Amino acid sequence: MTPITLGEVSVARVVEIDRSFNRTLDMLPGSTPEAIARHDAWLRPHFFDPAVNDLGSRIQTYVVRTPRHTVLIDTGVGNDKTRAAAPAWHLRQGSYLDDLRAAGVTPDQVDMVLCTHLHVDHVGWNTRLVDGRWVPTFPRARYVFVGPEWEFWKWESQSGREASGCIADSVAPIVEAGQAVLVDSTHVVDPWLALEPSPGHTPGHACVRLTTSAGTAVFSGDLMHRTVQVAEPQWSSKFCYEPGRAAETRRAFIERHADSGVLVLAAHFPRPGFIVSEAGEHRFTPTAEGF
Ligand SMILES: [Zn+2]
Repeated sequence: MTPITLGEVSVARVVEIDRSFNRTLDMLPGSTPEAIARHDAWLRPHFFDPAVNDLGSRIQTYVVRTPRHTVLIDTGVGNDKTRAAAPAWHLRQGSYLDDLRAAGVTPDQVDMVLCTHLHVDHVGWNTRLVDGRWVPTFPRARYVFVGPEWEFWKWESQSGREASGCIADSVAPIVEAGQAVLVDSTHVVDPWLALEPSPGHTPGHACVRLTTSAGTAVFSGDLMHRTVQVAEPQWSSKFCYEPGRAAETRRAFIERHADSGVLVLAAHFPRPGFIVSEAGEHRFTPTAEGF
């Protein structure tokens, strides 16, 4: 896939899984087939997956190379993880690390891993299984987690309420290895990358803003799951911790970025693009070039 170049920074992506096993109607409990179909004119073909007759979805990592750092934003599901509740993720043997290499990055070249939040499909490749132990996949990397997000999920995990097991196998081992950097949700990473709080989906969810000499992009994590939410921001996902707050955060984000020229790279959207105002509503329009 062709990276997007923004001035002195390049952005590539590695798609780990090219489809969701959650259908949009199930993922967004407030949606209806009729209400989704009203947006067909702009959702198709770019954001549609005809093989499953549903909106497209990805699980992917964005690879950002600034003049100073090679950064991964979110790390997917991972290999070898016990995910009994999700057959498509259970004990996976995917080609993620080969695909990362094909994008020009070996594990020891990664300087930093940023997790927008600590859900199971965003932390998986933080670790890999070596001789029966979960070890950091990226041996030199600092892993940046929002402190309150970690505290929340640590407690959920210890009290047995985090059902997937991802905190125990993909986050706690990073902390124990001394590679976690706990920050607040306004943390400035380097002259190009900074976190921005976007709570609701999870308590400490953060977006990552990229500022370059040739424009701005924002990695919005799970602030939105399906492109149709750009027009229907009141539809929160069934995985949102505080659906009402998630909707407020989403609506403010969409209004802020509409017609701004800021490139939006959502964790699960099939393509990056721009929020625009058309026909009295907000829509998402894909980038002309680049992955
Ligand atoms: Zn997600």
